[in-house]
Amino acid sequence: MTTTRFAPSPTGYIHVGNLRTALMNYLIARKAGGTFILRIDDTDPERSKEEYVDAIKQDLEWLGLHWDRVERQSDRLDRYAEAAEKLRAMGRLYEAFETPTELDLKRKKQLNMGKPPVYDRAALNLSEAEKEALRAERGNGVWRFKLDHERIEWNDGILGDISIDAASVSDPVLIRGDGQVLYTIASVVDDTEMGVTDVVRGSDHVTNTATQIQIIKALGGRCPRFAHHSLLTGPQGEALSKRLGTLALRDLREQGVQPMALLSLMARLGSSDPVELRSEVEELIDGFDVNRFGAAPTKFDVQDLFPLTAKHLQSLPLADVAGAVADAGVPDELAEPFWAMARENTTTLADLKGWWELCRDGADPLIAEEDQEFIAEAMALLPEGTFDGETWSTWTKAVKEATGRKGKGLFMPLRKALTGMERGPEMAALMPLLQVIRARG
Ligand code: GLU
Repeated sequence: MTTTRFAPSPTGYIHVGNLRTALMNYLIARKAGGTFILRIDDTDPERSKEEYVDAIKQDLEWLGLHWDRVERQSDRLDRYAEAAEKLRAMGRLYEAFETPTELDLKRKKQLNMGKPPVYDRAALNLSEAEKEALRAERGNGVWRFKLDHERIEWNDGILGDISIDAASVSDPVLIRGDGQVLYTIASVVDDTEMGVTDVVRGSDHVTNTATQIQIIKALGGRCPRFAHHSLLTGPQGEALSKRLGTLALRDLREQGVQPMALLSLMARLGSSDPVELRSEVEELIDGFDVNRFGAAPTKFDVQDLFPLTAKHLQSLPLADVAGAVADAGVPDELAEPFWAMARENTTTLADLKGWWELCRDGADPLIAEEDQEFIAEAMALLPEGTFDGETWSTWTKAVKEATGRKGKGLFMPLRKALTGMERGPEMAALMPLLQVIRARG
């Protein structure tokens, strides 16, 4: 059975880059009728915060990416300790005592000599007595996994055939000196024990994958299928890493981006399929294929989310936006005509407030010098009684007859006088909502 997981570390809010990972894993699971696990990678007690766990859940719920179950790495520390013990017994874990400064120095030396900065395994040569002395001096060492120096190969769902020389990679640290289990082993144990069949994650994890494949094998597990999606860049191809902080899902939500706009874009961006706006998450499932994504960095422009959001909103019936319409201050009895008027002119729901203010309070009229008289004449011709859907046409006809104006010369000054703008909602739909003039009529 297909099982995937989204495995954020609760050390911050999730952003568009994380969303891509979440969505791909979600769609793979749903397409196969499998299981989608939300795994909280919280082995780091200092940096992991409960508020971020809650925030991650809220963000996924907002998007409609429902998980089948939640797993927390902090609940599974005994499983990781057991796996570490197994590796130790096999001679695949060794204790090393270099300080970060020493490691840094080694790396610099290697680089100076034109060598790849790979950990030199000096700790493997320590005698028991030397280790004892180092432990007494520096405390417990870190535990490194001893890679087999062979080529590590896999067929990546996005990158294709990958082959990495294990000798070009440092033996990864699995356990810190203070006993804290690190992601590399925790993730392997979870993926194996939870029967994860497909792992999609960012291409910054490719080297991790190579080492994890060896750890999985050492522990006798089955390797999932791996796919590494490219990282997002800004619209000009610039690195996005620094800006991701401002591209948190909650910021986008705050800016009025609609979930389906975000999901529709992210389910296709960087793939060979065109971005098409969908109205339900379910509609993204069928056409989704991780193999159709390219390895090249994917350009992401936050501005692309707004036309999609506008288009999505325009497709919605009042029932779906009734809350926002009410929040904008629109009375219930006007909600229907208000939404019919505003929907075409709404980029985000935040715009509704402005349209309602226009209806309720009117606008500062925009009247050109040469139109002063014309507008005065037109205003005198405003039909009596309550405005309705016919008012605009009845009125403009009367104004046309009285003044001889027609076309743009007729309509534009009237629009500007009533709305203070050159563009905006259809006047026929707007007239019945204009409270100030309506009250006068
Ligand atoms: N917690 C890891 C991260 O956020 C998970 C990576 C993975 O998917 O294995 O990068």
